[in-house]
Formats: sequence, C-alpha cells, structure tokens
Amino acid sequence: MKILSVNAGSSSLKFQMYEMPYEKVLISGVFERIGLKDSFYTLKIDGNKVKKQVNLEDHEKAVEMLSDELINNNIVSSLDEIKAIGHRVVHGGDKYSDSVIIDDDVLKTVEDLSKLAPLHNPANLIGIKAFMKKISKAVSVAIFDTAFHQTIEKEEFLYSTPYEWYEKHQVRKYGFHGTSHKYITSRMKDVLNKEDVNLITCHLGNGASLCAVKNGESKDTTMGFTPNAGLIMGTRSGDIDFTLILHVMDEEEKDLNEVLNDLNKKSGFLGISKISSDSREIEEAYLNNDEKAVLTQKMYVKRIVSYIAKYFVFLKEVDAITFSGGIGENSSLTRKMIIEELQPLGIYLDETLNDKREDEFLISNDSSKVKCYVIKTDEEVMIAKETYRLAK
Ligand code: AMP
Repeated sequence: MKILSVNAGSSSLKFQMYEMPYEKVLISGVFERIGLKDSFYTLKIDGNKVKKQVNLEDHEKAVEMLSDELINNNIVSSLDEIKAIGHRVVHGGDKYSDSVIIDDDVLKTVEDLSKLAPLHNPANLIGIKAFMKKISKAVSVAIFDTAFHQTIEKEEFLYSTPYEWYEKHQVRKYGFHGTSHKYITSRMKDVLNKEDVNLITCHLGNGASLCAVKNGESKDTTMGFTPNAGLIMGTRSGDIDFTLILHVMDEEEKDLNEVLNDLNKKSGFLGISKISSDSREIEEAYLNNDEKAVLTQKMYVKRIVSYIAKYFVFLKEVDAITFSGGIGENSSLTRKMIIEELQPLGIYLDETLNDKREDEFLISNDSSKVKCYVIKTDEEVMIAKETYRLAK
C-alpha cells in the first residue's frame, strides 16, 4: 500500500512516500520557502538528490508539484494509487490519545486547538486541506505530537495553578515529540525483547524533551503546556521562573510578545553561548575552551541529568536510557558528559562503544545497572505505520 507521510509547517512541506507494510521509502523531499521569495524543493529518489528553484505561492501549489513529480518519476501511475496520507499534527489537546482518521469533526477540533498551538496547528491544517483537495480519494490520518503523552496521570500533568484554569482554559502539561518517543519505545520493545518496557527516552535535537516510559506508556515528559518547558534547547530557554518576564519587560522596555520571542528564539544554546543555536558549533568552541561554550554545554548536560535522576526515582525500575535526535544520535561528547554524571546511579559508559556510528547501538558497559542505547529516531516511518494501521 502506498502511503504518504507529511509534515507541513507554515512555509515548508516535508514528505516521504512509503510502500507499506515494508516501510520502503519510494521518494522523499521538502518544499521550502512556500509563499516567500526564492522558494525551491528538493527530492531524493534512489539516493539521488534533485533541487529545483520554483515559484511556490502556497501549499496547494507545492502539493500540485509533488503530485506531478510522483507521476513523472513513475512512483505512481495515477494519484488514486495513494491509499492514505498521514499528517503530523502538533496539538491534539486532551481529546486525542491516538492517531485518528480525519473527518470534518477532526478538522474542526484541530482548528479549535490552534489556540493552544498558534504556530503549528494552522500550518498543519493548511497542509491537510491542500492534500485532501488534490488527492481526494486517499484516507487522511492525523498523528498528534501530544497523543503518546495522554497516559500521563493528572498528578504529573497538572500545574499548581488555580484549578479552574485547567477546567476552563485547558491549562496543563501536554508534552510533545510524542511520535518520536513512541517510535523509540516500540524499537526498544524489540531491542530488549520485552513488551512492558520502562525507559527514559532522551530526544535531543534542536527541540528537546525527555520522556519517562512505564510499561510502554508515557508517564511524564519535560515539555509542558507548550514546547518551551523543560530542557535547554537550540533557541528555547526551557524551564524558567515566569516572574523574570515582568522584570525584563520593565528593564528592557519591551512588550510581552518581544520577551516571549526572546525566550523562544534567542535563548537556549544561542542565548547563553552567543555563538550559535547549533550544537556542533557549541561543541567545537567547547573543545577550544571558549568560556561561554563551556558554560552552555555544562548547563545543557546538567539540566538533562537532573531530569534523568528525577525519572529514575519516579520509575523505580529502568530497563534502558535511550538517546535520539540530532544531538543524541551524533554527539558522543554530550552522551559521555551525561552518562559520566549518572555514575551515582550506577550507570556507566563504554567509551569505545560510545564512539560507534550506527543507527542503533549499546553504549553502556557491563557493570552499568541500566543499559544505555543510541536509537536513531524516525518520526516519518512512525507516521506511515500509524496511517497504515488505521487505513489498511
Ligand atoms: P534535529 O532537530 O533532531 O535535527 O537536531 C539538530 C541538532 O543536532 C543541531 O543542534 C545539530 O547541531 C545537532 N547535531 C547534528 N549532528 C551533530 C553532530 N555530529 N554532533 C553534534 N551535534 C550534532
């Protein structure tokens, strides 16, 4: 069955087409700068990359060009061959604890939830509608970033704010990156040959979150009402004391939106280091003993370690700690620094294993009480698997 996996942003559209259930990628690509100057798209077919400079006035145009490419490259002979399309949707609120086939009700709910994710849900909806119009016979499925975390108990997801904020305004922890944490959990069931896995999954990319997984279900996560809570990220602050916002507004004569923008786009690695939001550049400067880079890297690691320690106590029994995302998968330095701090918990690194470069590998040594693994995440295939499950 041919299935498209789609991730639509406000000016971009990423896609992969799979032959399911074999999880074989037939074509993948990304349309960028939609609605802006200098728009273009890149495609990858059989390992060959193509880049085309085109005019992409809106998402519908991108979907039209994508459809032409599918036919011109003989991926499909007719668009009717595409049986289902899975769409990443950032916010499913507390309504969706699973992926769902999209109908009018779902479209309305995703639109209503835009209040909670104004930067993401409207863009996701534009993508869904553009595909529904052009490839109208395919079943459309929504895969929510929040869904995996709907098994978190109230005592973990509630903030200690007036209870009516939760009842009237949906103020609570939702958690994000659910598709990645779910994928890692399903991989670890295979790796450990066990269904009821207890894990601490560390998704360390430009955005970053940890998840405490008990018996295969999410029981806590570091992101909260928005993806700005928890860990230090590329440009996001993670946890802060909210009252500093008022202080900075006063001192810098900025309005609330400007300060929120600073917390979202000018904080994290970029804000502390003044070098970059990209962890590769921070690491390079760290290795050259740049003072701010050393500080950034240490703060980053400490925040992760403190959450791992919290989840270690919370879960009581942990089968494995996993590392994924661009940093988790590639940075042996960051993994080493994290695991060295976990020695009081009896967790030890094997430095030779840690330097390997594979999709999935063990990095803890034989004396470690908890196994540590690098597991390459694959949100796209998870979207395709969910879509296949519901549409087949
Ligand atoms: P993601 O959002 O998952 O694509 O991850 C992006 C982050 O991964 C960026 O901060 C990159 O600098 C980081 N990254 C990618 N490759 C490496 C690497 N080899 N070493 C350190 N960080 C890396």
